[in-house]
Amino acid sequence: MNLISELRELLGEKSTLILDPEILVSYQRDQAPFAPSGRPLVVLIARSIEEIAQVTKFANTKKIPIVVRGAGSGLAGGANAIPGSIVISTEKLNKILEIDSINQIARVQAGVINKELDVAVSEFGLAYLPDPASREWSTIGGNIATNAGGMCCVKYGVTSHHVRSIKVVLSDGELVELGFSTRKAVTTLDLLHLFVGSEGTLGIIVEATLSLVPRPQKPVTLIATFNDIAQAANAATEMMMLRPSMLELMDKTTLKAVESWKPMGFDNCDAVLILQSDEGSRACEVAQEIASNYGAIDAIFSDDPKDSDDLIQVRKLAYPALERLGVALLDDVVVPISKIRDLVIGVQRIAKEHFVTIGIFGHAGDGNMHPTIVYPHNDNAAEQRALRAFNNIIELAQSMGGTASGEHGIGALKINSAGDETSKRIMQLQREIKRVLDPQQIFNPGKKFSIDSCNF
Ligand SMILES: Cc1cc2nc3c(=O)[nH]c(=O)nc-3n(C[C@H](O)[C@H](O)[C@H](O)COP(=O)(O)OP(=O)(O)OC[C@H]3O[C@@H](n4cnc5c(N)ncnc54)[C@H](O)[C@@H]3O)c2cc1C
Repeated sequence: MNLISELRELLGEKSTLILDPEILVSYQRDQAPFAPSGRPLVVLIARSIEEIAQVTKFANTKKIPIVVRGAGSGLAGGANAIPGSIVISTEKLNKILEIDSINQIARVQAGVINKELDVAVSEFGLAYLPDPASREWSTIGGNIATNAGGMCCVKYGVTSHHVRSIKVVLSDGELVELGFSTRKAVTTLDLLHLFVGSEGTLGIIVEATLSLVPRPQKPVTLIATFNDIAQAANAATEMMMLRPSMLELMDKTTLKAVESWKPMGFDNCDAVLILQSDEGSRACEVAQEIASNYGAIDAIFSDDPKDSDDLIQVRKLAYPALERLGVALLDDVVVPISKIRDLVIGVQRIAKEHFVTIGIFGHAGDGNMHPTIVYPHNDNAAEQRALRAFNNIIELAQSMGGTASGEHGIGALKINSAGDETSKRIMQLQREIKRVLDPQQIFNPGKKFSIDSCNF
């Protein structure tokens, strides 16, 4: 019997196994250009934990790689299929199992879409805060596996701060629960947070209990324009004292890309800084003064929700506007916030050195910037220059005490960079953890850390 027949027999006729090559292609890659991928053996559209446990046990026995896939919105190739792998899609494991408004938690299956959860809990006056820009289609399982961030994380923290417990299928097919649904728990080692950000390399997250909070007040939004992005970056650093619930920076290249698509009147400045506060307008008044001290051309704010939406529109359009200009290779580096100015200047130098266009925007308040290299489609020479620029930006951030990825993950795209900033001892510890949890190396081999570093 071949592997597919064995799988069919194991799961029964009701399970959904995809074999059609044309459909398999759509499960082969996420949104990252360059990261390697291959044709999977089969895709399982999982409908129950039992199915996932059975397939995992089977794959473990046969040493078949498993790649878990949420929505495939990732930007690091983490969900890219490995040749001959079993892709397990959680897209149909999408039930909100419980909203407990008294204890301010929600229990959900891994495939629930982030935004759908937030909408559902809003009926109780609650919010699920982590807000990756992909929240309208990315899944809670994918968000936990990448420890996703977003704009409000500058105040409220990233996904890991909002996860209380998860149910995980381990490599032998056993189901375990890590963490507790209570607000506090210190009984065991914190294995929960070992899995948060593990990018599908340690186990399969099938359920999660998440923290909810009372919905924050509607934010007051300030937008400031500058002639000099270095001054805007300096102003951002000072504005962190105001506990902003959003603090975003955009450079001239990004603004030009937006203006050429949807003109909004930002064609006469070098940088835009956007700050939100959900604690009233006082923070915006002070931010206005700070902006002015750093030579802002203009700084206005509004507490009208409709105006707020309009004011942040330019930031929401940043990435799609750059994508319209060619292939967009999005970086995700983090530096100490005091170094944002130096990062921006360094990235501008790298753009010149490699003759590529780089738009810089991102979460200034977290020091997490997304320099985005844009180059023409089907231009091999430009592609090579873009790749060199991409790596140079990571090296630059690392040289400033920063890191290769703040929220998108390492996936298959940045494995070498991860090694550059991690000591041998830590690599060894990771290897030992991987050996305990996944001795046959079935979970997403070649992602997050290199196969070599995993050779037991
Ligand atoms: C336009 C755009 C904007 C984005 N904005 C942001 C942003 O603001 N912040 C941010 O952090 N990211 C952002 N991203 C990246 C991406 O959306 C996030 O990484 C997201 O968390 C991935 O969720 P997903 O469901 O699509 O996971 P996938 O892409 O399917 O998978 C991502 C990784 O998680 C693993 N995984 C998925 N589900 C599970 C599971 N149930 N158990 C174990 N492992 C699993 C996969 O194997 C893979 O390694 C953006 C992407 C796009 C395209």
